[in-house]
Amino acid sequence: MKHEITELDKNVEHLSLDAKELFNRIYTFEISIGTLGIPVEMETWVKKMFGSVGRVENQRIVSIKNKFTGDHSLFNQLRTDRPIEAKSAFVLEELKEKRSCLFCMPEKQTPADVFGRVKGKYCITAGNIAKYDSFHSLVIFKEHNPMELNEAWIEDYLRTGERWFEEVFKVEKKELQKFFLWNCLWRSGASIIHGHIQLTASRMRYGKLEVLEKVAADYKREFNSDYIDDLYRVHKSLGLAKENEGEKILFFVTPIKEKEIFVISRARRSDEMADTIYKLLRGYLGMGVQSFNLAIFQLEDYHIARLVDRGPLDAKTSDIGAMELYAASVVSSDPFKLAKVI
Ligand SMILES: [Zn+2]
Repeated sequence: MKHEITELDKNVEHLSLDAKELFNRIYTFEISIGTLGIPVEMETWVKKMFGSVGRVENQRIVSIKNKFTGDHSLFNQLRTDRPIEAKSAFVLEELKEKRSCLFCMPEKQTPADVFGRVKGKYCITAGNIAKYDSFHSLVIFKEHNPMELNEAWIEDYLRTGERWFEEVFKVEKKELQKFFLWNCLWRSGASIIHGHIQLTASRMRYGKLEVLEKVAADYKREFNSDYIDDLYRVHKSLGLAKENEGEKILFFVTPIKEKEIFVISRARRSDEMADTIYKLLRGYLGMGVQSFNLAIFQLEDYHIARLVDRGPLDAKTSDIGAMELYAASVVSSDPFKLAKVI
């Protein structure tokens, strides 16, 4: 049995009875073959691109869906067979260019919040100039290049973010929903190269987080069991989970896009997760990831972090189309391979 997403049927078949039952409670999946006919004129090109004509004429497709959240991913063996590690051909010279970078001079070139700025050892906060929530600010790193990372910096960025939330809660006189997001470089939606994390404190629960909360609450009621913990157990039984410093790392079987990782933590503050987050980002960079999204939020007693690769910086096409926006995610990276590499 190969540990590959396209062999998911066999991997599930090998689970213990309990594990299989839990998998089938949360997920439903289907493996099918997509067929087509290659004209003689295309054969040379097809062999060069995909190795053989037969593989292309009969394509193995895995469709897997989380029955509760609706998370749904489609994998095609032609794509998942490629190596997960991409050596970056992209020259990152642009990342070193600091001239006219406003975030290199945050105290002069970025607005402050009404309560001032929170200063960390390696970062400082600023109000977002065009907010998408009433409390929406930035943790601007001292280091310009966002691909330069170390654990102490990540811990400081997250701690500074936590201190900013405390300031907001003092102003509001109550706790709001905390949301950390890190869009790293332009493929991920970042408009400024200089490294920064964004923070939003929202009075209204964000819709997608509320869905997850509702799923967890309904699940507890129906099965008298913890949804997040069961999600971990399912991934662990498939060999798709690891632990680091108490954090549970899931190589998500329904990734929203490439190489999605889902981290479950009992930490009370996000900065307690710094070691795990740093190691995962290191793993990403080691695989040639050039642009990523990271989100950290609370769900009941957990802190959840989600991390996803957004593709090479020199790619012109977006990684997200109508399928991802309105139907299901088309994913090339095999979570089983990802679990081996990270
Ligand atoms: Zn800068």
